[in-house]
Amino acid sequence: MAPLIALREVSKSFTARSGTVTALDSIDLDIEAGEIFAIIGHSGAGKSTLVRLINGLEHATSGTVTVDGVVIGEQSEREMRRLRSRIGMIFQQFHLFRSRTVYGNVAYPLKLAGLPRERQRDRVAELLAFVGLTDKAWARPDQLSGGQKQRVAIARALANDPAILLADESTSALDPETTRDVLRLLRRVNAELGVTVVVVTHEMDVVRSIADRVAVLEAGRLVEVGTVFDVFSAPRTETSRRFAATVLRNRPGADDLTRLRKRHDGTLVSVTVDDDDVLGPVLTEAVREHDLRFEIVHGGIDTLQGRSFGSVTLALTGAERDIETTVDRLRAVAPVEVHA
Ligand code: ADP
Repeated sequence: MAPLIALREVSKSFTARSGTVTALDSIDLDIEAGEIFAIIGHSGAGKSTLVRLINGLEHATSGTVTVDGVVIGEQSEREMRRLRSRIGMIFQQFHLFRSRTVYGNVAYPLKLAGLPRERQRDRVAELLAFVGLTDKAWARPDQLSGGQKQRVAIARALANDPAILLADESTSALDPETTRDVLRLLRRVNAELGVTVVVVTHEMDVVRSIADRVAVLEAGRLVEVGTVFDVFSAPRTETSRRFAATVLRNRPGADDLTRLRKRHDGTLVSVTVDDDDVLGPVLTEAVREHDLRFEIVHGGIDTLQGRSFGSVTLALTGAERDIETTVDRLRAVAPVEVHA
């Protein structure tokens, strides 16, 4: 099946007073129907520009953006309207109509679509039940908490049964607990309604808790794309390494290593740990066969996409040859870094 969203060689530049800014540079990206896809990157990396290309608010300088079979920029006004109704959007600042009630906000796109009043009422009731705000139908946005506002925005974005929900920094203004609630709701939107969810964020926790796959943007370039597990368990670029480090604090940093060296004599070795429990057997054998001792001095094992993942740092002491043999055996079964 063709991907729901496909970007081919997409570049976007802006002409500013100071010269030309390349916001996106030769992006190739496929987002499949039914997935939760995250786009992560630091501020200015090009995330919002990418979203605006997908929803047709901006057009690529070169390359093609295809959404649900429609090539953006080549379609008729009618096709574009149909496409817009297939894409729901939510934002960091919610963008609710402050003068309308919750009901009025959610009913608004249905009214625009010309739905009879009776059907509007049924649909709004259904949507408010889905997001758990039935009892707030007649409240106004300023009477709601941040999390409730985002729920209203989600209900409104879902009103016309979109195929895609674009969430642009949708939890960045929320506290951690409310963030978790909103992410849980987005997961239900995906699982129960079959909506493809694209989240744009600078928060690694968001990616980790809901995304299936992730794309990492760095200064307008797509530097990594893959499953969340693959990208963050073996990050290949500085950006993804830094993002991974914000939640997976189990690899020793430079300061940790300095401190560990002061406290321990042996050779410091970090081993990446995943679902195949290989560390124990290799160390048991090393202790049994050689006069080798080890101390676990740093690390942790975490869960990423339902799999164990982490890094354990050992201080190995013993004869140099025995340490080498043990490191080789570890290397044969897991990624190993020897801290010289
Ligand atoms: P992000 O969402 O990752 O923070 P943006 O997509 O907003 O990044 O911006 C990417 C780059 O493009 C930045 O350097 C930004 O200044 C520039 N940019 C974005 N929109 C415009 C615009 N309308 N005019 C000029 N420069 C822009």
